[in-house]
Amino acid sequence: MDNVSTLAAPALDVARIRKDFPLLQQATVYGLPLVYFDNGATTQKPQVVLDTLEQYYTGYNSNVHRGVHHLSQKATDAYEEARKTAAAYINAQYSHEVIFTKGTTDSINLVASSFGRTFLQAGDVVLISAMEHHSNIVPWQMICEEKGAELKVIPINERGELLMDEFSRLLNERVKIVAVTYVSNTMGTVNPVKDIITQAHARNIPVLLDAAQAIQHITIDVQDLQPDFLAFSGHKIYGPTGIGVLYGKEAWLNKMPPYQGGGDMIKTVTFAKTIYNELPYKFEAGTPDVSGAIGLAAALNYLQQVGLEKIQQYEEQLIEYALQALQQVPGIRFIGQAAHRSGAISFLVDDIHPYDLGELLDKQGIAVRTGHHCTEPLMDLFKIPGTVRASLSFYNTFEEVDKLVAAVNRAAAMLR
Ligand code: PLP
Repeated sequence: MDNVSTLAAPALDVARIRKDFPLLQQATVYGLPLVYFDNGATTQKPQVVLDTLEQYYTGYNSNVHRGVHHLSQKATDAYEEARKTAAAYINAQYSHEVIFTKGTTDSINLVASSFGRTFLQAGDVVLISAMEHHSNIVPWQMICEEKGAELKVIPINERGELLMDEFSRLLNERVKIVAVTYVSNTMGTVNPVKDIITQAHARNIPVLLDAAQAIQHITIDVQDLQPDFLAFSGHKIYGPTGIGVLYGKEAWLNKMPPYQGGGDMIKTVTFAKTIYNELPYKFEAGTPDVSGAIGLAAALNYLQQVGLEKIQQYEEQLIEYALQALQQVPGIRFIGQAAHRSGAISFLVDDIHPYDLGELLDKQGIAVRTGHHCTEPLMDLFKIPGTVRASLSFYNTFEEVDKLVAAVNRAAAMLR
């Protein structure tokens, strides 16, 4: 195996980048410096995001869209600027195609509920995949049950890749929407979403992409990719918790009813009738997460500054190195071995329970996730209780990968 010194020069100055993340500088676990490989669950925040939140709360905290006073105007401007930043980040044609939500889960629930209520009927099919997060299963199950529609599943092979022939076979006139993840949070599989969208569109079927694990690793251009809906969470892309994005094509969003009722989403209200507001406000009932949106925009601007291409290049180097290094662990079995992958590496060692392994990694200062990763059906498919998942970010180092491998070896030796 290559060691660090024989690899091509890293695409990023990670030592410098790590200085931008206070937690990475400060956090220790049992007296050891933290090695954080739980980025798929949530990412750490750069100082600029923390500063932006503080500046908002100390300088211009105010409710948006409602006040004529100076602070409210300032907060409204910053909130709407954040929408433009998010829209530009994914190259949306219009900023009103960006709806601020609580996160990926909220975004998918919005579409399942609003699209489902309008366009699903008994006998229709919603097509998802075998590797979906519960967030892209349960909302569809709920609306299918309500409407008498059927949830169908694109199968995968043992490497954790979608069976595209099966996908083509499942696409028929009964399918009213395809909802798939761009990147598997458990296996790191990058799905051929362009192909999926092209095939679905050839039959006029819209596609929702769960981009929760893609947006922080892969440059997404919605005008090029053409998803009808795209969902992601702020906290997984170095922004605050509680904020997320639903991108939707204007034509679809205009045809869909509001998801929730309340303030801001209305033009006029009488007891007899309410006229709904225009996009994007129609889908943003109540006081939005103003600080979250502004903080998310700060995170997106930060990533642009670091350079998305460099981040992607470095993460590819890092994951390749990690896969090669982990391969050396005796008895390791990777769950998911897709040719095209990003972010997460899931594995088991011999018949050691993932929780036991995770616990001993934690004792060595290494944060990984263990369990089913909200993909229980996928675990059932592999007939395993869960995995150990290391999920990587551009602020992780090759040395941290070496520490992970050494710690896995040490833990496995103790547990065998
Ligand atoms: N979809 C995928 C692929 C995920 O990995 C996650 C979170 O782990 C979600 C959806 C849900 O994201 P959130 O909990 O931020 O709504």
